[in-house]
Amino acid sequence: KLHNTILELKGNIRVFCRVRPQLPDDCSSNQGKVVSYPTSMEYLGRGIDMTQNGQKHSFTFDKVFMPDASQEEVFVEISQLVQSALDGYKVCIFAYGQTGSGKTYTMMGRPGQPEEKGLIPRSLEQIFQTRQALQPQGWRYEMQVSMLEIYNETIRDLLSTNRDVSRIENGVAGKQYTIKHDANGNTQVSDLTIVDVQSSREVSYLLDRAAQSRSVGKTQMNEQSSRSHFVFTMRITGVNESTEQQVQGVLNLIDLAGSERLSKSGSTGDRLKETQKEDHVPFRNSKLTYLLQPCLGGDSKTLMFVNISPEPSSVGESLCSLRFAARVN
Ligand code: ADP
Ligand code: MG
Repeated sequence: KLHNTILELKGNIRVFCRVRPQLPDDCSSNQGKVVSYPTSMEYLGRGIDMTQNGQKHSFTFDKVFMPDASQEEVFVEISQLVQSALDGYKVCIFAYGQTGSGKTYTMMGRPGQPEEKGLIPRSLEQIFQTRQALQPQGWRYEMQVSMLEIYNETIRDLLSTNRDVSRIENGVAGKQYTIKHDANGNTQVSDLTIVDVQSSREVSYLLDRAAQSRSVGKTQMNEQSSRSHFVFTMRITGVNESTEQQVQGVLNLIDLAGSERLSKSGSTGDRLKETQKEDHVPFRNSKLTYLLQPCLGGDSKTLMFVNISPEPSSVGESLCSLRFAARVN
């Protein structure tokens, strides 16, 4: 189970909390402030208070981003971590939180708004810039990208050029997407499309293609995006031509399915069936957990964003997310 796996790594994971701003269509304007930040110097930028039924709950994380934090300000805090994938580390950054709390905004940003690019496009730009900058020192890097979605324990290849999506989803096309780890801790998903990339523009193009592929699935399966995990993986292989030093790093950037419980979302049917097997978590996680295992242990570097919605109607859900994140941290 993903939650258990994450908890086992307690101490190994850094946690950043990000509260999204109020949106024009949040229907909660006059119900008062529910999120606040401790003002003492000690907690500056690290503490968050949440008030429910007049009771204040306080949390501390590695970093707390207030609603006015820009994408740029957030990226500054993770750029070192991204950089370490070029030094041969396995890096994993994922966004956790209820649907509507800002996970996709944090990871991808707002489409068509360069200022509001999320950490995936920013990370890619930085990686390719650094690759260029390291060339004079003899470093030659190769990058490979794959993108997949896990919905209801089914892996979907978002870069597959096979247009007959439904056939693939039903397994008729014979795609197995079996996950295997080798002795070196490298992960392979059989049949998954892997693309060699030379620039961040190429990756942007692939991200667009993946987004398109996701939306095709969505119309077929009803708003599955809040229930599916999106996993972006970049494998980085570096060789230094003068020193013959070699590095192999991985960057996993993950937009998790919504963390909300069944009771609040009030879903029925499929969703209910899916949820019965697990008390709190509205998705089964064994594929994701297994896929990420090598990236969640040992000398890998993992960062979790816990995204929080500022609406009073979300306080219960936000407290659940914050409590979970506090246990991880
Ligand atoms: P999630 O992926 O967790 O379901 P989204 O990222 O889609 O949530 O965010 C929900 C809405 O809030 C979107 O319209 C998004 O553009 C907006 N939003 C989220 N975070 C921010 C932010 N920090 N600044 C401005 N708008 C945001
Ligand atoms: Mg989303």
